[in-house]
Amino acid sequence: MPDKLTERLDAHNVSVDEDLAHLHLCGHVHLQTGRVCCLPVCHTGSCEFRCSDDIPRSNGNPQ
Ligand SMILES: [Zn+2]
Repeated sequence: MPDKLTERLDAHNVSVDEDLAHLHLCGHVHLQTGRVCCLPVCHTGSCEFRCSDDIPRSNGNPQ
């Protein structure tokens, strides 16, 4: 069974996209692919990493 404490510690070992964090989204960055998780913050289950082009940006600035 998953260890929630371990998950929280792991969260400090990955990058977080600040734009998504400000949108109350998970924002974890998969370092190997550069994809980011745009599920709600503190979502259950595994991160769903998506291409950053699919992510809504708070400033509307395409990147
Ligand atoms: Zn996530």
